[in-house]
Amino acid sequence: MMRRRVKIAGVVQGVGFRPYLYCLATELRLNGEVANGTGGVVLEIEGERQRVEEFLRRLPLEIPPLAQIESVDVESMETSGVAGFRITASDASGHVSTQIPADAATCGECLREMLDPGNRRYRYPFINCTHCGPRFTITRSIPYDRPQTSMARFKMCAACQTEYDDPHDRRFHAQPNACWECGPRLTLLDAEGAASDVKEPVVATLELLAEGKIVAVKGIGGFHLVVDATNSEAVARLRGRKHRFGKPLAVMVRDLDAVRQMCAVSAAEAALLTSTERPIVLLRALGSHGLAAEIAPGVPWLGVFLPYAPVHYLLLGNAELSALVMTSANLSEEPIAIANDEAVERLHGIADAFLMHDREILQRADDSVMCVMEGAPQFLRRSRGHVPLPVRLPMEAPPLLAVGGHLKSVFTLARGHHAYQSQHLGDLESVSSLDFFAEALEHFERIFQVVPECVVHDLHLGYASTVWAMQQPQVKIAVQHHHAHIAGCMAEYALSGPVIGLALDGTGYGADGCVWGGEVLIATLSGYERYAQLKYAAMPGSEAAVRQPWRMAFGHLLAALGEGVFDAEILARLKVSEQDARLLARMIDRGMNSPLTSSCGRMFDAAAALILGRDRVDYEAQAAIELEGVAEMGEAADGAGYGLRLERNEGGVLILNPAPMWEALIEDLRLGVARGVMSTRFHVGVADAYAQAAIAAREQTGIEDVCLGGGVFHNRLLTGLLCRRLREAGMVVHLPVRVSPGDGGLSYGQAAVAAALLAERF
Ligand SMILES: [Zn+2]
Ligand SMILES: [Zn+2]
Ligand SMILES: [Zn+2]
Repeated sequence: MMRRRVKIAGVVQGVGFRPYLYCLATELRLNGEVANGTGGVVLEIEGERQRVEEFLRRLPLEIPPLAQIESVDVESMETSGVAGFRITASDASGHVSTQIPADAATCGECLREMLDPGNRRYRYPFINCTHCGPRFTITRSIPYDRPQTSMARFKMCAACQTEYDDPHDRRFHAQPNACWECGPRLTLLDAEGAASDVKEPVVATLELLAEGKIVAVKGIGGFHLVVDATNSEAVARLRGRKHRFGKPLAVMVRDLDAVRQMCAVSAAEAALLTSTERPIVLLRALGSHGLAAEIAPGVPWLGVFLPYAPVHYLLLGNAELSALVMTSANLSEEPIAIANDEAVERLHGIADAFLMHDREILQRADDSVMCVMEGAPQFLRRSRGHVPLPVRLPMEAPPLLAVGGHLKSVFTLARGHHAYQSQHLGDLESVSSLDFFAEALEHFERIFQVVPECVVHDLHLGYASTVWAMQQPQVKIAVQHHHAHIAGCMAEYALSGPVIGLALDGTGYGADGCVWGGEVLIATLSGYERYAQLKYAAMPGSEAAVRQPWRMAFGHLLAALGEGVFDAEILARLKVSEQDARLLARMIDRGMNSPLTSSCGRMFDAAAALILGRDRVDYEAQAAIELEGVAEMGEAADGAGYGLRLERNEGGVLILNPAPMWEALIEDLRLGVARGVMSTRFHVGVADAYAQAAIAAREQTGIEDVCLGGGVFHNRLLTGLLCRRLREAGMVVHLPVRVSPGDGGLSYGQAAVAAALLAERF
């Protein structure tokens, strides 16, 4: 006989772990007990040696679907001789290292029950079990137990309680367990927020959607604005009311078969679509997708996701509607609405009706957005379904907070090997986004009980996140933007460096005060050297040049062609008069409001202005996205790219000079070459130039590892071309998978740099 105490850490609470251990123990006729503790799950197991060993062997192999084990510690104990196996009460004392699960899509078994007229939960919009349902978004504190969730106010009926108490039941300790009898309910409100007395809110909602109405639907992480995706007029009305003109809208589609009618879906994409995290997945649209053209104007992709809450299945369960536009209920980059009265107030004049429920959402979480990049998943936005699961840091970090950047804000709270990234917080431009930042931070500090000893921020003093960081009493560490991008990639792959870092990005504050974003760095986690950069060009009007790509084109062409930029054809292409152009040139000459930039993203803007005539943008990276789109859609090019010239400056830094590229591009414009061909040549030229720079860096340093970081790596055409060239040259390419390569992943990289610096210092 033997007795062992087993401590299991990881995602082991709220995922059916204790019943799993109970069943395994009883199957092997072992005695003991199990409890949730703040350190994870603590188990004591006693019986014949052989059976205990069998138990420990099988334990990690057969865990429930949502569980993730990080560590298992086993120690010997005296046998007690007590018979039976018990699940004992949770212990809320001690140091917290356990984790709250992420929200998970309705599982197959719950779905079958919901569609079974004989089941007591037939068509119940809040059906869930231990393998599915809301978690993070309904949790106030730890340990993850019903009184700490927004289900606390719903007292379970006898039938639900019996399931909850039965270790053999799929709903044993399923904290959000509920039914028609005892759980949350849907209600339909009119545009003014007045309750209606409709018997079947879902049916009434479907009628409204069929009429082309806009309905705000409360889901898991917030409200969505919903319209019929085949109704052009309704989609256009939604855009008008939401003041969202160009940016593509996400579409929820009934099932994978229906997705295949609209888009090309690879096996990797199908796996992402059907994962329990249910992200929005960017897919290549088929020509005949049958949806309103207003959903994704100007681009060949659709953002598609499958239902993940029971109410979504009910809305998409009828024959007429197979696709719904479902977009976060907010104005542009403000936080998504979650509270009922907040939704009525903020969506007044936008929504024609509200499909609400009375289960509180305690944490906002927008939908995650992903794509398949080079065969692996990539985050465009890491949020619902993934939050608050940690990403590993390669070194032990003291408790620290990294506040990220300015746009697509995400903070990272780190301790030990765990980096907890917040949900997507939006652009920190509005007061409401800053409030959301503070609210989410407070929640994370509470649930993970991390009191940061150090605050890490960007070099840019104008970022709202930096301003916030400066006001904090803790030790501060500033990290250069692109070093953070590269360090994030290194940390994900546990590389200590040095590596060759290709940071191709929008804009980030450089160490020399210029705007960086097209750099080749030789980087370790704690430092970097700038090996190469795109040649500086002026950004006339500074921020205005981001919103008006024609200004970037002018800045680049002035640098490349000098007087040649005043050519009538070029000015006509940029839709600028000679007089205004002369004024702009003088402004640049005097350095007035015209910072210098090496940004690759801004060079994409410049190319889009020339190739597409895209003179202004409605959303971030629109010009670059459309430029990639025309290459995807356009005629095949011959494979040759517009060449950039590599030269060295006095400081020994390799300069990627795009002047020959602009000359060739303008020649193609004059010849009337197709836009798709020009776009492809541009992509090929940029990929070639950075590949050459990386190869030159290897020759000089012997480093084989290349880490990619920055928002430009959301571009699949460029990333594919660049990765291929680097691999052909025998280099080892690392692309972020668990963290976004864009600014959504910035705080993770900042945390990695700070942890490395602190480890070196002490
Ligand atoms: Zn379930
Ligand atoms: Zn019930
Ligand atoms: Zn960036």
